[in-house]
Amino acid sequence: MAWPSSKERAGVPAGRTLSGLPPRTTLPDLRARPVTGVPGVGPRIETALKDLGVTSLADLVSHYPARHEDLSNVKNVSDLRVGERATVVARVVGAKRIGNPAGGRSRGLSIQLYDGTGYMPATVWGRGWLLNQLVPDVWVVVSGEVQRRYGLQLAVKSIEVVDDPGSLEESAHAGRFVPVYPANKGITARRIRALVHRALAEAGRILDPLPARMLAAHGLPNLHDAVHEVHFPTDRESLESAMRRLVFHELLILQTGLAARKARLEKTESGRAHEGDGTLLNPFLKGLPFGLTGAQERVIGEALEDMRSEKPMRRLLQGDVGSGKTVVAIAALLTAVEAGGQGAIMAPTEVLAEQHFISISNALAHLPVNVVSLTGSQGVYERKAALAAVRSGEAHVVVGTHALIQKGVEFRDLSLVVVDEQHRFGVGQRTVFKEKGATPDTLVMTATPIPRTLSLTLYGDLEVSLLDELPPGRKPVETSLVEIPEREGAYEAMRRELEAGRQAYVICPLVEESEALEDVRAAEELHEELEAKVFPERRVGLLHGRMKPAEKREVMAAFRAREIEVLVATVVVEVGVDVPNASAIVIEGAERFGLSQLHQLRGRVCRGLHPPKCFLIGDPKTEDSRKRLDALCEHQSGFKLSEVDLAIRGEGTLFGSRQSGMPDLKVAKLLRDVEVLVEARREAFALVAKDPTLRKPEHRPLRREVRDLLGADVEWLFKE
Ligand code: ADP
Ligand code: MG
Repeated sequence: MAWPSSKERAGVPAGRTLSGLPPRTTLPDLRARPVTGVPGVGPRIETALKDLGVTSLADLVSHYPARHEDLSNVKNVSDLRVGERATVVARVVGAKRIGNPAGGRSRGLSIQLYDGTGYMPATVWGRGWLLNQLVPDVWVVVSGEVQRRYGLQLAVKSIEVVDDPGSLEESAHAGRFVPVYPANKGITARRIRALVHRALAEAGRILDPLPARMLAAHGLPNLHDAVHEVHFPTDRESLESAMRRLVFHELLILQTGLAARKARLEKTESGRAHEGDGTLLNPFLKGLPFGLTGAQERVIGEALEDMRSEKPMRRLLQGDVGSGKTVVAIAALLTAVEAGGQGAIMAPTEVLAEQHFISISNALAHLPVNVVSLTGSQGVYERKAALAAVRSGEAHVVVGTHALIQKGVEFRDLSLVVVDEQHRFGVGQRTVFKEKGATPDTLVMTATPIPRTLSLTLYGDLEVSLLDELPPGRKPVETSLVEIPEREGAYEAMRRELEAGRQAYVICPLVEESEALEDVRAAEELHEELEAKVFPERRVGLLHGRMKPAEKREVMAAFRAREIEVLVATVVVEVGVDVPNASAIVIEGAERFGLSQLHQLRGRVCRGLHPPKCFLIGDPKTEDSRKRLDALCEHQSGFKLSEVDLAIRGEGTLFGSRQSGMPDLKVAKLLRDVEVLVEARREAFALVAKDPTLRKPEHRPLRREVRDLLGADVEWLFKE
């Protein structure tokens, strides 16, 4: 590839001319240089690149191939057989639009391919925009199913326009593989590769922010070589070690940020060393109607040990639905109170806060512990009294929603915060308590199990405790998928449960947390229909998010007291509502819920004495939603389900969410790269232990990358 001419260079903004370039650079340097500085990037290409998330030189240089097609698996057209799934590399002979034979609106492309061994027609649906890229002689890598239709044809599942034919033929001959670039309507993969080539030349030598010692220890190539290899691989081995290097790089930077954050917090914050004397905890444990599970004992031990230390506790407790997290929370709360502090437990919804208030008050009724509830919906008088009790310290344990962290709530001596169902809270909220004086200990509980690799990343600055054992006698929830026309069958099964004196939930199809009016109306209609037509002989109640808190409370109390036998509810019951006599749950519109939501909902009925049943009523329209529902029917473990979920959704979604507060990972795939993650994490924490603010000269480049990756809000980490 030629270097840009001086004329081309003349178009480059001042200060970024080739002659002014340092011979060596770093990725952060490249991030400051717009992609328009690359010769050949005009306004049109700039826009197309922007759509791909590429705006700087660094973005372009790290616009890595999505994958490398392994040409050793590629078949010759002349060898294809009907029914097989195959990949071919071929040249486009011609392409045109076609209508849908089924008469639908979606249109497709018919492409004629030639690979030197034979001609093959192929059809592609739903990617019409490819047409203007599929010009004659362009090379494509195509996978799909070989079908017979007036002779053989390929029903295309994936198609990529690939690199220039020359090098492709060469690599094909060498039995190698082709880089496949993420491309779009506005730009071909081939063009991208050419631009990357130029960008690498523009960039010059890329300096490595990682200490040489670390690379040597892990047998990794330097950054410059790795970046070049990934785009233009010499052979499979060096491609693989280059990929490993880039994954390591990304994870190391992330983990270094997390380690630095943790070190910083530990240095600047001091908490209370809780000296519990057991005067509350012991009678509480003794009074439980059951013995603790081994896991509960272990986890309580872990939490209490953290609390004894002066370092503020930051612990994540993961436990599947029904694993008994509340007992752990209460043990910690009592320890705080024994040590003279106050404990708070924060729930994501009013219903759940209410539930916690009731169960915690009951559990502590025989102890001299004052439990107070604080929610956003309390009446003025009630709230005033609660606030006063919290301020005076008369309230030992405070249960509430995020009303707990609002202005005007003053604790006398808050020393422990338990956050239930963390996934509902943003990371921002996790830290709010900090601003109120001394740092309280924090115990974050989640019932949405996160695979270990993810928790290391998402919550990399938290210690993790695992409740990996369910209390004895838990029944697996027999789960079945019911197509809409068969709904009557689910009602029939439900009727049998009711006749046996049990209770049931019917969950309305709803996805939004903020329940819109239409959703509420739908819930009311469903309630009416069940009450009037399906179960006229039963008492049917209704619970939805738009009801007044007092009404909700009343309905929950009636359900608990078995005055209501069938509870029609929106997702407000999703988390934590605990009525052991309920043994069946029917979930309408199941395909509209997420997998973990469904698992949570199903968890409402796993706690009773009777074999519980769950009916997912729905009409899964996509392959993914069917997979989700099938997974629920097949698996009981939330951990297993969360892995399935991750595999279906892709990891990107987890990190893309603002909730996680985490940057996007570009190359690392957490499920695939567990081992690298563990190594990178170990290195990062070791490095930060030695040099917490990364001020040593050999760590400064790394510090810059961490800053770059995590953004401005990490500035404080590195203050001396
Ligand atoms: P989750 O982890 O989903 O919040 P909970 O703490 O609400 O679970 O506990 C679920 C149910 O299991 C409650 O009814 C609780 O009383 C009961 N439970 C908790 N621990 C045990 C145990 N060790 N043995 C038997 N039942 C238990
Ligand atoms: Mg719970």
